[in-house]
Amino acid sequence: MQRCVSLVQRSLIRHQRPCSGVEPGELQPEFDAIDLDRPLADVDAGLEEIQRLYLDHAVHFHDPGYVAHLNCPITLPSILAEAIATPLNTAVETWDQSAGATLIEQKLIDWVTARIGLGEAADGVFTSGGTQSNLMALLMARDAACERLSGHGGNRHHGLPADHHRLRILASAVSHFSVQKAAALLGLGHNAVIPVPCDDDNRMDVAALRARLDDCHNDGLLPFAVVATAGTTDFGSIDPLPGIAELCQSRGIWLHVDAAYGGGLLLSRRYRHWLAGIEQADSVSIDYHKTFFQPVSCSACLVRDRHQLGHVTYHADYLNPHDQADAGTPDLVNKSLQTTRRFDALKLWLTLRTLGADALGGYLDDVIALTRQTCRLMRERERDDIDVLTTPALSTLIFRYCPAGISDETTIETINHHIRHTLSRRGEGVVAGTRVNGRFYLKFTLLNPQTRLEDMNRLITRIAIHGEAFTTTMDADNGSKETTTPASDNHTGTRHAPSIAR
Ligand SMILES: *Cc1c(COP(=O)(O)O)cnc(C)c1O
Repeated sequence: MQRCVSLVQRSLIRHQRPCSGVEPGELQPEFDAIDLDRPLADVDAGLEEIQRLYLDHAVHFHDPGYVAHLNCPITLPSILAEAIATPLNTAVETWDQSAGATLIEQKLIDWVTARIGLGEAADGVFTSGGTQSNLMALLMARDAACERLSGHGGNRHHGLPADHHRLRILASAVSHFSVQKAAALLGLGHNAVIPVPCDDDNRMDVAALRARLDDCHNDGLLPFAVVATAGTTDFGSIDPLPGIAELCQSRGIWLHVDAAYGGGLLLSRRYRHWLAGIEQADSVSIDYHKTFFQPVSCSACLVRDRHQLGHVTYHADYLNPHDQADAGTPDLVNKSLQTTRRFDALKLWLTLRTLGADALGGYLDDVIALTRQTCRLMRERERDDIDVLTTPALSTLIFRYCPAGISDETTIETINHHIRHTLSRRGEGVVAGTRVNGRFYLKFTLLNPQTRLEDMNRLITRIAIHGEAFTTTMDADNGSKETTTPASDNHTGTRHAPSIAR
């Protein structure tokens, strides 16, 4: 264990860049040479191999140059908790497997439902991520609707009712793709999700939602759930929850709030009000492994009415028999899609018990402030070379390198692909790419409270340098992608952190 810890420590201290820039074709031969049926001589050899295959190329989410996806640096207490839960190997299924762990998870569920304001009858369960949380919420919504359609017992016993092809889910045009995936898994198909148009700030347009619901009614369709997103993955935009909730209530439609990204605002003293209306949801998804700075995986699905969790209950004689439930034994498996499940609650527990909720909320506030400052920095260049698409809502920035004088869409896209690839190839930065209205953009997702404006400035400068070098070469030799741009100034990865793990 000590050798492991020092290996990880060395690897973290030694790293200078957010990624090694390795490409699949370069690493694959190393794997081709390995025969899994022939073990190595000892653990040291195994660790050496892991260093070569994995640690040397690991992508460092805590490096200021990593600004691609919703991955966060993690709190130190959460790592300690992982070091406790893994050797114990607790599986939070039934009381007879997880005693105290069951109550730790339950207390965190009660804590977060109170923070949301879901009311006395609320409950929930930890899940592997927002995808599973959304699936579970929509499964409960579907089954609640099917129960109304085909009477008691519903489709849990008999499969989908005959008119299931009329069931519809409404979600904004920029909601997460896991909604479509869930619809397919639930036997409804991707096309059962009706996209609702957004306003200019990428928030669901409530008038459009009302119109879509009216269309459904006129077409004899059965809209049973609306998914409102509190923090869209690309834009960070938060749908207008109060208006959506009112509409759902008046029409008896299940409101699911996907707060996988924005859930951390529950702990923010400055921005908690952005989530106003979330307390009216029937179900909520929260990813602790995003804005609560927890290790993967850590998420929860919460419901207003705990009875709805019955839609995922199955009593097995060997595990969680009926009489055990009747006796009041808290078996968490009764409300989970999973059976064997990691004790992911412990890391959030130790984080709250040591750092505290205010510190976590403060991290998110810092990240939001940094995003706004970075946006200002980029806007200063707007006349020259950087085009910022939207005002940031949470902590993403969508932009592209677009030098004055170039307007051809294909050329701009080529330049930006080149920038993204060059940054990553050189280990200078990991930046995401996305498409908005058919156009390719670069995306920053900021989730590191220790990143400073200078770090962002340095990255933006590199983006401009690569963009300019590529544009110049294109002019010179008609689009060849072979460019050389100056290496970056020394990137320092040595910063000391009291509470966020490096
Ligand atoms: C990240 C995300 C998800 C999916 O969550 P996973 O934890 O990756 O499964 C769902 N919805 C939104 C809005 C997200 O940002």
